[in-house]
Amino acid sequence: MKFCSECGHRVEKRVAADDPIPRFRCTHCHYVHYQNPKILVSCYATWEDKVLWIRRGTEPFKGKWAAPSGFMEENETLVEAAARELYEETRARVDMDKMSLHMVGNLTQMNQVYIVFHAPLLSPEFATTPEAEEARLLTLDEFPFDDFAFPEVVENVSLFYRDIQNQHFNVYLGTLKNGVNQVIQNDDSHLHRL
Ligand SMILES: [Zn+2]
Repeated sequence: MKFCSECGHRVEKRVAADDPIPRFRCTHCHYVHYQNPKILVSCYATWEDKVLWIRRGTEPFKGKWAAPSGFMEENETLVEAAARELYEETRARVDMDKMSLHMVGNLTQMNQVYIVFHAPLLSPEFATTPEAEEARLLTLDEFPFDDFAFPEVVENVSLFYRDIQNQHFNVYLGTLKNGVNQVIQNDDSHLHRL
């Protein structure tokens, strides 16, 4: 950010006496431009023991495999956002009433919060789109671990396939910070480290 959206004058990033976090502050009207994490949503769409993955059609990581995902829009719920992104990227549909929470994650370096749902596909029908140059339902054995767009969090993929195999779906808290991914499982009553 270079200019103030309130008055058009230059901003500078600095701390203030009452706020130790460096923020963009207007040099003219003194407006403080707070910047907070964005919310990224995904839906793991399942069919039997398979999960729908895409080969990304856009940068970053074009050509690498990932889950259909994108940023939440204003005036949208988390579940609506996850279903919308799934449809936009793959034309696949899920029953929003059957969507379950899989993971809430901190992507600290990217300044994002990641929320992953899972839901069974209404039918095994999907398509390629400008955002997905390929879309495929893959079993664990077929998953391209060496070609995944986000190797830092690839263990999250294994966790989900494990839940499919066990037919017991847990909820996880993930934290990717300083290149290290940690996942904590939510039990009935509390969080515990895996
Ligand atoms: Zn200003």
